[in-house]
Formats: sequence, structure tokens, C-alpha cells
Amino acid sequence: MSEVLLYSGGVDSFIAYWYLNRPPVLFVDLGLKSNVLEKEAVWEASRKYSMNLTIVSLPLIWVPVMSEMELPCRNMYLVLAGSHFADRIWLIVQRGELNLSDRSPTFMVMASEMLTQLWNGTKKEVCSPFVDRTKVEMVQWYVDNVGTVDELDQSTICCYRGKVFCGECSACFRKWVALRLNGGGRQYDELIVKGGLLEQYTKRAEERDPKLGTERIEEILAVNELLMIG
Ligand SMILES: [Zn+2]
Repeated sequence: MSEVLLYSGGVDSFIAYWYLNRPPVLFVDLGLKSNVLEKEAVWEASRKYSMNLTIVSLPLIWVPVMSEMELPCRNMYLVLAGSHFADRIWLIVQRGELNLSDRSPTFMVMASEMLTQLWNGTKKEVCSPFVDRTKVEMVQWYVDNVGTVDELDQSTICCYRGKVFCGECSACFRKWVALRLNGGGRQYDELIVKGGLLEQYTKRAEERDPKLGTERIEEILAVNELLMIG
């Protein structure tokens, strides 16, 4: 079965590239602010690691309300684009976000069925290799099997605000937690502390907010301990 990895330039898909033994990768430029720097990072990584990269442009400039963080149907656009390049489409999701509508196991099954039907019976599969791992565990796998946490940081980009690392958005925050709990990411401490999210999350973790979930609560408390040690 032909395969393609939906590659965003972020930590998750970069790790998946290694985990899946370097499949062809596809970057879909949706015309979002964050896509500009992402595309650059993707180019760079593809040159550095000789990736078999395809970039397509699918600008969503006609979407009336555009939020980088919550773009409804985002993954549907991506898997649809992916279906033109391969039959197995790797979409990276992690444990802890499987309740989101376009990252859930149900979405994977339904998208597979729908694409198979739209492609007149050619079997299309939307799947993810990391449904049983958190981001922290994914980074741990990378560090154990592929490279250093600094290499991972330098080869990836995450920010919702279209910067390299703003320290204020939830994507930067999640990346920082995953790097920090794997021995890296110290260079971002100051930006993160200034950014304000750490304070908010710490408060919620200390109150054991059930919406955060036990795993994230533990992660946030652990990263606070690391900060105190320095
Ligand atoms: Zn950011």
C-alpha cells in the first residue's frame, strides 16, 4: 500500500517521520499565518534529512472566520489532499487529544470509509502511529532512538502565532513541556514564564482541574519542579 505522512513541520510529524521509517511526506499549505515559517522549516528539514517532500497549496482564504488554533475540519482538508498521493495517509495525533473532533479514532474510521467510497472503492486508510503516546512520550522515543532533543527542537516549528517560538500560545507551551521533560528546552524558559500560560496551567494543575486530565496535571507539576531546580 502506498503511504504518505502529513507533515506539518512540528515535533509530532517530525518524530513520526523517523518512527515510520522515513515515508514520503506531504506539507499542505492552507494559507494560514503559521504556514509561512512552517513551510520554511519543512524545506530545511527536507534538505537536511533528504526527505521525499511534496508541498501543495490549498489556501483557505475564503473561510469567513479563521482561527489558527481552532480551524474546523482542518484534518479533513489534510487527509483529502493526502488521498491524492497515497492510499495510507498518516495523520499524527497523540493520546490526550483523541477527544477532539477531527483527531478522534471515530474520525479516522469515518474519513477512511468516506475516502474509500469517494475513490470508487480504492481502499484508503487514515491512521496514526501514536494514539497510545503523549507528546512527552513521543519525544522520549525520539531521544532514545534517533537524535538529541536539541536536534529535534532545531528541526521543528510549532507556533500558532507564526513565529519560531512565541512562548505565549498553547502550541509553543506543549512543545516546551515535552522538550523540558526530556532534558531540553531550557532556552525557552524565560519566554514561557513571560508568556503567562504556565501560570494559568499551574493554577489549574494545582487545583487538579479534571478538564486537564491526570496526565497533563502530572506533566505540568513535573515541569514546575524542573524550573525550580533550574
Ligand atoms: Zn507560539
